[in-house]
Amino acid sequence: MPVAQILKYGFLICQIYFLRKLADKTKIFTPFSLFCQNLHSNLKLLAAYSLTAISLNLTVMQKSQTDMSPKSSRNSSLSALRVKFAQILQRKTMDLEKIYKDAGAFLQGHFLLSSGNHSQFYLQSAKVLEDPQLAGALADELAAVIEKSGVEFDSVCSPALGGILAGYELARAAKKRFIFTERIERIMSLRRGFEVGEGERFVVCEDIITTGGSALEAARVIESLGGEVVAFAALANRGFCKVANLAGSVAKASAKLPADKPFFALGNFEFEIFGPANCPLCADGSKAIKPGSRGN
Ligand SMILES: [Zn+2]
Repeated sequence: MPVAQILKYGFLICQIYFLRKLADKTKIFTPFSLFCQNLHSNLKLLAAYSLTAISLNLTVMQKSQTDMSPKSSRNSSLSALRVKFAQILQRKTMDLEKIYKDAGAFLQGHFLLSSGNHSQFYLQSAKVLEDPQLAGALADELAAVIEKSGVEFDSVCSPALGGILAGYELARAAKKRFIFTERIERIMSLRRGFEVGEGERFVVCEDIITTGGSALEAARVIESLGGEVVAFAALANRGFCKVANLAGSVAKASAKLPADKPFFALGNFEFEIFGPANCPLCADGSKAIKPGSRGN
């Protein structure tokens, strides 16, 4: 029982503390009191270790209580532990390229990007985000990256349609409000009764940032209404903008995100893009297609 365990650990710590104090008072040092003295000097460490062990145990017990399979509780505890450690390991080594490839979201062909440029590769984030658990895990990671940076914000805003799922999940993970902008006759606007408070601090979030054009347009809408954009975020950078939390990324000439605001992302893909006039794929005779228009 967790309560019994907490009492057991607590009692053990009290015993060690008492014996140490007794030895200090009486100046009678037995091997056992010396052992307690050593242990007491590491009491904080011991307490931290005990709390970790107890909380891990609680998690395992909760997990095994909800497990309705006929496995023995020892087995389900072990499998819960394995799941826990797998999650911790996955957190440490989140490989965005593998996630996109596994989800069939890493496409090869000849694509017309929303920026008007052409590319041989396309990241179809909708295929990754169709799994809400995975979307949640990615957003948790992105929220942790932003929190670690010390950037504080009140709300998340995404340009429709591509950014909505990523932005919404980020807002959920960071416990913030979420709104989105959309294009009305090509002009980025805020509709649907969404409001921006005076001085309200926003993170503008996309699924993928290439040059950052749409994100910047959304940011301008926020700022025109009295809000403040404090940072940009995306699941991935397509190799054109500088990512604040990823070493080695640089801003290329076509990057549109403002240099004075941090941009956070979980991964960096270095894809070449071409203007329609100098696209080698067009030169080979194929036609660029808008992703999503032919079932991809
Ligand atoms: Zn082309």
